[in-house]
Amino acid sequence: EKIIIALDGHAGCGKSTTAKAVAKELNYVFIDTGAMYRAVTHNFLTNEVDIADINDVNKALSKISLKFVLNPSTGIGEVHVNGQNVEPFIRNMEITSRVSDVAAIKEVRVFCVKEQQTMGKDKGIVMDGRDIGTVVFPNAELKVFMTADVKVRAKRRLKEMESKGVSTSLEDVIADIENRDHIDSTRKESPLKKADDAVVVDTSGLTIEEQVASILKLAKA
Ligand code: C5P
Repeated sequence: EKIIIALDGHAGCGKSTTAKAVAKELNYVFIDTGAMYRAVTHNFLTNEVDIADINDVNKALSKISLKFVLNPSTGIGEVHVNGQNVEPFIRNMEITSRVSDVAAIKEVRVFCVKEQQTMGKDKGIVMDGRDIGTVVFPNAELKVFMTADVKVRAKRRLKEMESKGVSTSLEDVIADIENRDHIDSTRKESPLKKADDAVVVDTSGLTIEEQVASILKLAKA
């Protein structure tokens, strides 16, 4: 019986990496909802959308069609906006530093959540984000809330960014993570919080393999 696995938690604690591996192991579909908020942010910046003007926001959203398209060489879905693969443009510091303000807008959340619920209707998915267990799939069979010490998260994130050729510093990564956690946890619309029935996994002392194993164990329980 296929289930829905909701993986929420703080920025940079390895949610996507873990979710990807868990999905591969179970032969499930992995959906990175952060990529959707990043793609919307990229679209808004490109089109100079004034995020303080709700009419402007609604007009822009009405012209966006989001899709995950499988990259056959990696087996991972990449986010496309109106047919364009935006994956190469959504992981940089500019998008990262702005995405939480865009994700705090109610209309943006309604737009993304609707897409996510459609994508998950057939079950057999691992979805990572901030509000999957609380808002998108409150009835998910397995909910995990991942967290880790901020310094550990920043060091991992820095390594990952450097491997992708993005240049930044540990101080900047720490500042970004703390800033996003703050905005994400204090926003009015579906703030980041642990679902009552979520299992907490602190990844500070865990390797990726251990994180994956712990979630697989929960999924099979
Ligand atoms: O997961 P990732 O770090 O790529 O997410 C980027 C940002 O998108 C988060 O900091 C948060 O502001 C927003 N987000 C959200 N709800 C989700 C997923 C991401 O608000 N379900």
